[in-house]
Amino acid sequence: MGNDGGSIPKRCQLIKSFKNSKPKKNQNLISYSRAKYCSLSKEKLKKPIVADRLGQIFNKKSIIENLINKNLPNETFRHLKSLKDVKELKCEFSNDGKIKCKISNIEFSGINKFYFIWNCGDVLSLDAIKNLNMKNKCLLCGQEFKKEDLISLNYSKEEKEKIKKKILLEKKEKSLMLQLKRKREENKKNENEINDNNNENTIIKKIKLI
Ligand SMILES: [Zn+2]
Repeated sequence: MGNDGGSIPKRCQLIKSFKNSKPKKNQNLISYSRAKYCSLSKEKLKKPIVADRLGQIFNKKSIIENLINKNLPNETFRHLKSLKDVKELKCEFSNDGKIKCKISNIEFSGINKFYFIWNCGDVLSLDAIKNLNMKNKCLLCGQEFKKEDLISLNYSKEEKEKIKKKILLEKKEKSLMLQLKRKREENKKNENEINDNNNENTIIKKIKLI
């Protein structure tokens, strides 16, 4: 009585927050683990480490082993066909094994925004990028890069899917172009052979006429 209920959450709100709490907790755990463990072998990250364009970090050793043995899980890692599809990261580790930004000294928790530059492999925290007003040159090595070469280490699941689709499409286009080029070269070769044969026949005919 006298309670207007204003501060009591409604049943539907309670259900909503209960539904949301579990996936968020799981998501946080996934995010924390991607900062410390190899996304493939789940072993602790240990130098040399590499990352793909989806911002997933791996121990270089596990990537090499899996590429050689053709053991990469197809659905998740379809975009990884060779070492060209990953980049070695240049970074430091803190004492408890976390990636550290060389400029800001901030550690990568898996949740705070971190990036690496595809061209040079340098790893930087968002704070370093913002404070030093990095535009298109790496703060550490000065190498120039394009916007799409700044890879986040925290892409969402949806963003990763989008990037993966783009990579697969580019790979498909590249392979089609290569096939087309080979076909053209083959046709040209055949054409030359026919021309050579025709020339030869003409010469033989001429000789016979003489
Ligand atoms: Zn750099």
